[in-house]
Parts: sequence; C-alpha cells; structure tokens
Amino acid sequence: MPELPEVHTILQDLKQAGLLGCSIQKVLLYWPKTVAQPAASLFCRLLRHKQIIGLDRRGKYLILSLSQGYYLCIHLRMTGRLLLVDQATPEAPHVRLRLELDRGKALDYHDTRKFGRWHLTKNLEEVVGKIGPEPLSPNFTFENFWNRLHPRSRALKPLLLDQTFLAGLGNIYVDEALWQAQLHPLQSAHQLTLEQARHLYQAIRYVLKRGIESQGTTLGTGRSNYYRLDGTRGEHQTLLNIFRRTGEPCPRCGHLIERLVVAQRSTHICPYCQPKNPNLGH
Ligand SMILES: [Zn+2]
Repeated sequence: MPELPEVHTILQDLKQAGLLGCSIQKVLLYWPKTVAQPAASLFCRLLRHKQIIGLDRRGKYLILSLSQGYYLCIHLRMTGRLLLVDQATPEAPHVRLRLELDRGKALDYHDTRKFGRWHLTKNLEEVVGKIGPEPLSPNFTFENFWNRLHPRSRALKPLLLDQTFLAGLGNIYVDEALWQAQLHPLQSAHQLTLEQARHLYQAIRYVLKRGIESQGTTLGTGRSNYYRLDGTRGEHQTLLNIFRRTGEPCPRCGHLIERLVVAQRSTHICPYCQPKNPNLGH
C-alpha cells in the first residue's frame, strides 16, 4: 500500500513527466466505483478539457489542481497505481480509468483490488481537511508532536496509522519507525517519556526520508505492488530493518523478529529491542 514516500515519489515522477500544463482530452472510465464524487457521468464530463495547473500531495492523496478551480484528489489505497503510456497502448488488465492527455499521452490507473478512490471537487477541504500534520513539514516541530501525542491513551501503532493524528504513515513505515525508536506497538502514547517521544519523532522523520531517498518500497513482484510512473520499482525494500522479516535476526541485537497482529494489521517487532513495558526490563 502506497504511503507518504511512495505517493511523494509518484508526485515527483508526474512532475518530471511534464504533466503540469497538460490538458485532459478524454476520460475513459471502466470501473465507475473508482469515482468517489461527483456522479461518474458528471465526473467524466467535468474533467474534459481541464488543464493540470498544479501537482501536490497531502497525506496519501495526490492532488491535481485543475483549471476553473477544481481539484482531482487520488487515493491509491491498497493496490492503486498510475502509469504514463502512449495513447496507442492498449489498456492493460485492471485499468479502471484512463485520462487521455495532449501530446498523445495517457495516464492509466490500475487497481487490482479496486479500493482506490478519485474525488473531483472545488472544495479541497472536504476531502483532505481532517488529515493531521505533515511529518516532514518544517512547521511540524517536536513540541507540536509531543502536544498531540502526550494526551492520547491509544496504543502507538493504531495512533500512528490514524491519518487524523499524523499524515501519510502506513503499516510499513510505522513498523520501521517503532523499531528505530525501540518502542512496542502496543505501548500507550501517554506513557512515553519526553526522551522516548523525541526518539519516535526523529525515527518517523528518518524512515520517511529514507523511503523518499530510495523512491519507495516495492515488496515482491506482483501486479498489485507499488510501482513508479514508468513501471520501475522503488528500492527502499532493501533497507527495511523489521518489516516482513519475521524469523530473521534483528539487525540491532540479533534476536529473531516476531510477527503479531495489532489493529488488524500484520506487525513486526524485535521482542528484545521493543519490550512491551520497558520499565520491567527485558
Ligand atoms: Zn533487536
């Protein structure tokens, strides 16, 4: 599932591919439920002849600013991905939507599981207004993080996955950040000391930057993975310390990595580096 570093990479790819300034000539919609709003027929009609005048990201949403005050917000969810092709290229299986652009290009939207959603709106706030702060924003200081974290009694993993608490984190980067900060995913947020919270703040920013620098995480080889706009893979999977490494030695201490389920999500920890209650020792 694409998280902040993957969506960031796709955004950079869209910019480099020259999408800014392109016009949408035609919309081919093959799976109408891809469109969250407005109604599918209106969505297709409104998108025609709009020009792409801005490319941005908020949390896990890609945001295309369009002429006449519209925003096209794309959430890739589990298995959505974008591929830039020539219009002459036949649609691959699982293409749910194609935007035909000028200069003979087309933006294909693949989605094997069909959970991804596209919103077309003039009111950006109604789509992204409830999303929490951007963890890599210069405005997001440790004091800001602490003030949000400390009053919360929730366990760290579900809290960090909550997009209204913090933008852009998903299963991979939460597991990596908690390992980096040596914190158990079930530890309650308000039990963290100032020092532990500072380690967590630094760890979140560190793993997200590492993910961006290595163009995101592509696990395995299946169609439903994250891929870049030209179909190539990210490289962050080679840098993962804990995620999907069950049974392998922890890179820090050598104890075997364990898998547990937290908030219905597969979760990976080192039982030695990430004790549930650090006050009780190992
Ligand atoms: Zn360890």
